[in-house]
Amino acid sequence: MTTLQDCRALDAQDPLAPLRAHFDLPPGVIYLDGNSLGVLPKATAARVADVVTREWGTDLIRSWNTASWFDLPQRLGNQLAPFIGAGAGEVVCTDSTSINLYKVLSAALNIAREESPARRRVVSERSNFPTDLYIAEGLCKERGLDLVLVEPEEIAASLTGDVAVLMLTHVNYRTGAMHDMAALTAAAHAAGILTVWDLAHSAGAVPVDLQGADADFSIGCGYKYLNGGPGAPAFVWVHPRHADRFWQPLSGWWGHAAPFQFTPGYQPAPGITRYLCGTQPIISLSALQCGLDVFDAAQPLGGMAALRAKSLALTDLFIELVQARCGGHGLGLATPREHARRGSQVCLTRDEGQGLHGQGSGAYAIVQALIARGVIGDFRKGDGGQGPHKDILRFGFTPLYIGFEDVWNAVEHLRQVLDSAEWQRAEFNQINAVT
Ligand SMILES: *Cc1c(COP(=O)(O)O)cnc(C)c1O
Repeated sequence: MTTLQDCRALDAQDPLAPLRAHFDLPPGVIYLDGNSLGVLPKATAARVADVVTREWGTDLIRSWNTASWFDLPQRLGNQLAPFIGAGAGEVVCTDSTSINLYKVLSAALNIAREESPARRRVVSERSNFPTDLYIAEGLCKERGLDLVLVEPEEIAASLTGDVAVLMLTHVNYRTGAMHDMAALTAAAHAAGILTVWDLAHSAGAVPVDLQGADADFSIGCGYKYLNGGPGAPAFVWVHPRHADRFWQPLSGWWGHAAPFQFTPGYQPAPGITRYLCGTQPIISLSALQCGLDVFDAAQPLGGMAALRAKSLALTDLFIELVQARCGGHGLGLATPREHARRGSQVCLTRDEGQGLHGQGSGAYAIVQALIARGVIGDFRKGDGGQGPHKDILRFGFTPLYIGFEDVWNAVEHLRQVLDSAEWQRAEFNQINAVT
C-alpha cells in the first residue's frame, strides 16, 4: 500500500508542483471541490482591482478601445482554444453555460432540421446535469420536438433516423464517468445526427480534442476547473463548417456584423462572434483571464498531458487509499476505474438505510463532517432508492493545486470521521440550502 512517505516523495518529484503557488489556498483546507467552484488565482484580486479602479474608474468609456474590452470574449476564447482542441477564432467566452446551450442547441436543430425535417428528436442522457435537460426540454417544447433520455449504454441504439441532435456532457457530474467523444460523434454522424458536447467537467480537467473528434458544437463552464470565479462567463465553440450557418436565437447587438452602425435590421457577424448576445461582463471576464493564465503557465511544465497524468495518479491513489483504509463502512465506487472512462473526480456511494437511525444514506452527513475538518468535497443526492442512482460523496481533484500528501490527509480524515462515527452528530445531519 502507498504510504504517507510515498506520497511526500511523489510530491517532491511532481513537475507540476510549482503551479500551486499561482493560487491563494486558505491554510488548513484540502480543497476537493474545484470541479464545482475553482479556487482563487493569486493574480485575480489585483487584476480585478485594476480593471475597477483604473480601466473603469479613471479611463471610463475609453477602455472599450484603450483596454481592448471590446474583443475580450474573442481574446479569452483564443487563449482557451488550445486546451479544448479548438482553433483560433473558433471560441468565445461569454454568458452562462445554460444560455450558451440554448444558443448552440437552437443552431444545431436549425441545421439538422433544414437538411432533414423528419428529424424531430433530441437525445440525451438521463443523468445529464439538470440544467442541460431543462434547457433542452424548454427548446423542444417551444418547437414541438421530443427530448428522449436514455442510459449511457443505450446511446448507440438510440441514434435513429428521426434524431436531429445528440446532446451529451462529456464527463458526468455525478459519477465522473467520461464518454468517448470521438466514437460517439462518429456514430452520430454516421446516422446523420449533429452533436452538442458540454465540457463543464472537462475543460481544464482532461485533454479534449473537439477538432480531432469532429464534434459540431460545444459549450463549457468558466468557474469550475478553469478557476474563473463564481458565476464566471462560460464558453461556446462551433465547428467552422457550421459557424456561418443560421443565427443563434439570442440575436443581440454584440453578435451583429456592425454593432456601431446602429442599423434597425440584424446582420449576424461572421464566425463565432455571432454567438455573443449583449454587453459583456468585463470585470468577470478579466477574472476568468487570470484562471486561463495558469494553464498557459502549465504549458512549459507539460501542459494538459502532464495535468492529465497527475489527475489520474491522484484519483488512482484516492481510490486505493479509500479501499485500503476506509473499509467496513459501506462505501462504494461510482467512478470508473478504467482511465479512458474517468474524468478528474472520484465519487463514492452509500446505500439507503446506512444513515443516522437508518434514515437515508448518511452521505450528506459524512461530507459535512469532512468539511468541518477542512476537507471540502460535496454531496449529490441520489434517487432515494427509487432508481439506480445512489447518494454520492463527490471529490474533485485539480492537479494544478492538489498534491499527493493532500490525498493521503483527505483519506485519513475520512477514515477518522467514519471510524469515530463523528458524522452521526446532529449538526452534520441538517441539510443546508446549497449542497
Ligand atoms: C456546472 C454545469 C452547468 C452550469 O450551468 P450554469 O449555467 O453555469 O449554471 C451546466 N452543465 C453542466 C453539465 C454542468 O456541470
